[in-house]
Amino acid sequence: MKHIQAALLGLFLLFSLPLLNGKTTTFDTVLQKSEELLNVDPQTVLETAQKRLTSLGERAPAKERLEASLLVGRALINLGRFPEALKWGERASSLASQSGETSKGFDALRIMMSAWSSQGNDSIVEKKALEAIGLATKLNLKPQIVSMANALGTAYMGAGKVEEALEVYLKAYRIAEEIHDSTQLCHTLLNLTGATVFMMNYPKALEYNDAGIALAKRIGSLRILVNQYITRGTIMENLGRPREVVNALNEAVQISRRIGYTRALLMTLNNLADTYLNLQEYDKVIVYAQEAEALALENNNPADGAVIRVTYAQALGKLGRPREAIPLIRQSLAFFLEKGKVIETMQVRGFLAEAYEQAGLYKEALESHKLFKAESDRLRAEERSRRIAELQTRYEADKREREIALLNKDNALKSAELKRKRAQQSILLTASLSFVLIAFLLYRRNCTSKATNRKLTDLNERLHSLSLTDNLTGLHNRRYIDSRIDQDIAQALRTFQGNPEKTLSFLIVDIDNFKRINDTEGHHGGDLVLQEFSRRLKEALRESDILVRWGGEEFLVVAPDSSVEGARELALRIVETVRSRPFLLEERELFLTCSVGYCGFPFSSENATDLGWNEVVQFADGALYEAKRAGKNRAVGLLPGPSPLNREGVRRVLQDPGKAEQQGLVLLARS
Ligand code: GH3
Ligand code: MG
Ligand code: MG
Repeated sequence: MKHIQAALLGLFLLFSLPLLNGKTTTFDTVLQKSEELLNVDPQTVLETAQKRLTSLGERAPAKERLEASLLVGRALINLGRFPEALKWGERASSLASQSGETSKGFDALRIMMSAWSSQGNDSIVEKKALEAIGLATKLNLKPQIVSMANALGTAYMGAGKVEEALEVYLKAYRIAEEIHDSTQLCHTLLNLTGATVFMMNYPKALEYNDAGIALAKRIGSLRILVNQYITRGTIMENLGRPREVVNALNEAVQISRRIGYTRALLMTLNNLADTYLNLQEYDKVIVYAQEAEALALENNNPADGAVIRVTYAQALGKLGRPREAIPLIRQSLAFFLEKGKVIETMQVRGFLAEAYEQAGLYKEALESHKLFKAESDRLRAEERSRRIAELQTRYEADKREREIALLNKDNALKSAELKRKRAQQSILLTASLSFVLIAFLLYRRNCTSKATNRKLTDLNERLHSLSLTDNLTGLHNRRYIDSRIDQDIAQALRTFQGNPEKTLSFLIVDIDNFKRINDTEGHHGGDLVLQEFSRRLKEALRESDILVRWGGEEFLVVAPDSSVEGARELALRIVETVRSRPFLLEERELFLTCSVGYCGFPFSSENATDLGWNEVVQFADGALYEAKRAGKNRAVGLLPGPSPLNREGVRRVLQDPGKAEQQGLVLLARS
């Protein structure tokens, strides 16, 4: 969940903020170094400050107890002990007002805000920050204005008000620059990076990120540095630079481990899980997500727990375990709902609908979908921000298609139930792929209203075109062939009668050693290869040839009006186009080969209709098998032998084309 990650990013910023006007007073040497120590050893700071308070006693002047209380609060924040930190923030706040230390009052408020944010209570932060900015402006306390503006921005981000957030961050940046406060500048740069990531303006985000990393290194702000590296991972991921994602996350892991920055470690684990989700390495997702979930639980961090569970659930879904995913998503949904996280709620509803659909719970899926739609509509109506509207449009485009499919599935389910009651038939419930279409036709037959009929036909057409295309390559899929092959066969027979040289050629193309590509380049790399491979195939084909993604890394070409020689030339052209130049894969070049098996319909002139097109495709597949066996990177055709094939002959060819050739049943044309 990238956007949630970006929103959460702001939470970390609060923790790294040093005390404003943090004069080192009469504290011992440990406390003199408190800024640095809070980063690397908050436990020591906590213990020293607590000792100090004990030695001061309850009757010491408020002013003296204030400094130590602030340190206790900040150390607790850095240790992730938020409820206790909140109490100390309140205590420090009252000590500040007792002693008239207004600027320290802001520091106390800042501690409280960190605690609220960590519990997802952005609305309180928003309200308090607005009040505080008003007060700081009146008193002309510039560092406090910057600090509170950053807190306000973070609260806005949490509520999905990105435009407002950006505005206050820019204001914070201007003032921090004006008062030459590098620490605050560094801090604000991180917030700006986060906000631009959220807006999906990655080139701009990278600029802020580069500047932020340089500054954080220069002034030794390790916590900010960690957060910048985490954000860098998100940026690189969106810029399609997966290796740099891993690099950035590793930097983040190393530094956060070194300084004991548990929250960042949690975040990084979550991002690694997310990265592996994108790389489709689901087992790794589970490993990191489990570790992160345990860490979230251990550190009493429901906000991160909610994010991680969604990632975890997505991996379970991909591994075909939607029933385990559903409770996880629901748990996260409940959290986001309770905290009023609008964008997250909307997103998670989408995931929930998908999981329900995958589990076959169509009614629930449709319900979740409707809620998703209602929520996003409401969001748009309420949200003035243009950016948010853009964000929604993107999500909706993805989900709209799905909604159509769900509507149909739900309808199909209803009609199936009706039908079953009437005729005691249950076939519909067992058919899976063609289920939607079959059920749909039945539904239409049962429909009396013309208007409904038209609407359904409309949906059906859209569903139809959707179901004939392969998602990854944009090529046709098997169903497309099913939908048109009868016409093509009829045409082929007509042509054949006029000119027995001309057949409808079927070629099966299979990438050689594709598994190795997945192993070395990852699944994502494999997908890129499949896309480029599809483009190459198109290059080699004529306009009238049909290209279909037949299976994983197998493609079917149907070439009308081609002689045996024509089919052979086409097959060789495909082999050549693939091996002639390297495939570009991000930074690397890969040389690939493929193998082709081909066969023509009608198979022989003796009895043109003895063998169906299905068997001809199976013959082509047999020829492909021979091409692989002979060493790959070549084409093999399966041609008729001297005498016509009977049923037993067909069976033998299908079983072992090589042996069938030796028995003189068919010929294999090797090239
Ligand atoms: P051969 O040369 O004998 O064809 O070996 P191969 O490794 O190419 O063939 P095999 O059929 O053993 O492996 C095909 C692999 O393709 C296995 C599967 O994981 C992968 N695959 C299938 N569909 C997809 C996909 O959509 N994306 C990716 N990345 N891989 C896929
Ligand atoms: Mg292969
Ligand atoms: Mg294969």
